Amino acid sequence: MTDKLEKTIWDCAVIGGDPAGLTAAIYLARYHLSVTVFDDNTSRAAMIPISHNHAGFPDGISGPKLLDRMRAQAQRYGALIQGRKVAALKKDGDFFELVFDGETVFARSVLMATGVLNRRPPMSSAAHDDAVARGLLRYCPVCDWFEVSDRAIGVLGTGAKGFMEAKFLRSYTRDVTLVAPAGEHDLDDAERRGLEGLGVKVDAGPVTSIEQSANMITIATATRSYAFASLYPALGSDIRSGLAGALGARVSDEGCIDVDAHQRTSVPGLYAAGDVVIGLDQISHAMGQAGVAATAIRNDLCEIEALVR
Ligand SMILES: Cc1cc2nc3c(=O)[nH]c(=O)nc-3n(C[C@H](O)[C@H](O)[C@H](O)COP(=O)(O)OP(=O)(O)OC[C@H]3O[C@@H](n4cnc5c(N)ncnc54)[C@H](O)[C@@H]3O)c2cc1C
Repeated sequence: MTDKLEKTIWDCAVIGGDPAGLTAAIYLARYHLSVTVFDDNTSRAAMIPISHNHAGFPDGISGPKLLDRMRAQAQRYGALIQGRKVAALKKDGDFFELVFDGETVFARSVLMATGVLNRRPPMSSAAHDDAVARGLLRYCPVCDWFEVSDRAIGVLGTGAKGFMEAKFLRSYTRDVTLVAPAGEHDLDDAERRGLEGLGVKVDAGPVTSIEQSANMITIATATRSYAFASLYPALGSDIRSGLAGALGARVSDEGCIDVDAHQRTSVPGLYAAGDVVIGLDQISHAMGQAGVAATAIRNDLCEIEALVR
């Protein structure tokens, strides 16, 4: 305890410096709370080449530009942003301990804004990032299906995820092909009939190569090759809730952190917002949840100790 008292104890430590974490940091800093943000530079938002559905930017805005603006806004009000990976999260009495290589940071509350990681198709990191930057590989039909209207689209996946994504995209173009990555589809009769009725082409794969040209992405399977304007991987994602789960926070079967209407987790003092919580996986939703979380953090801290100036 002596050691703890000698150190800074932040009112809030935010894990994740993207739309959810930075929105919360802006709110918390403007509530005159001390806030630090940790980010390990594996941002999903930074992969957005240009977003056309984020309100307020009629000509669109790229993920990196949006994040630059948000970081500047959070820092203007005193938030400290640190490019560091939180290795472990513990709770000792009223305080959280964020553990790094050889150092521990203390906080009265913690916001998990750690997002998710998309599972990727088999291609090199450089080829992958280049394809995402050019809109040949897309991960978010809700965000950018408008951009692929009436184009030839591939969905890489199978099972319920592949079926749902192909069905979703079919409402924007007649030309949808669902390709199984590993040589066999895992679709039940109703899903097969549904795809047939919608005119979605189905290929059992396996995918033998993924190549890209100036404006097309080409997939070769065992039987033929396809040139798509965009390919949507529907391979699922890994939810980055491990730190919260290890602390005993309740998570759903898929791994999303369970929260109440104020973004409180089942661990007192621990909150969560953004893609790591079940939701729409959109910037707007992440920001909305973060505003609610920051306000709950402020009010809950106030219950413990009156915040007066
Ligand atoms: C290619 C692409 C295009 C998209 N286009 C759009 C769009 O046009 N419009 C839209 O609304 N949405 C879009 N999205 C979705 C959008 O990116 C997400 O909904 C949004 O980024 C969620 O924000 P978040 O803050 O919850 O999580 P993330 O953006 O995933 O950020 C999580 C952060 O947590 C950090 N982190 C995780 N674990 C740790 C740890 N242990 N220590 C330190 N830091 C950690 C990571 O570094 C990361 O920066 C797109 C996504 C992709 C992949």
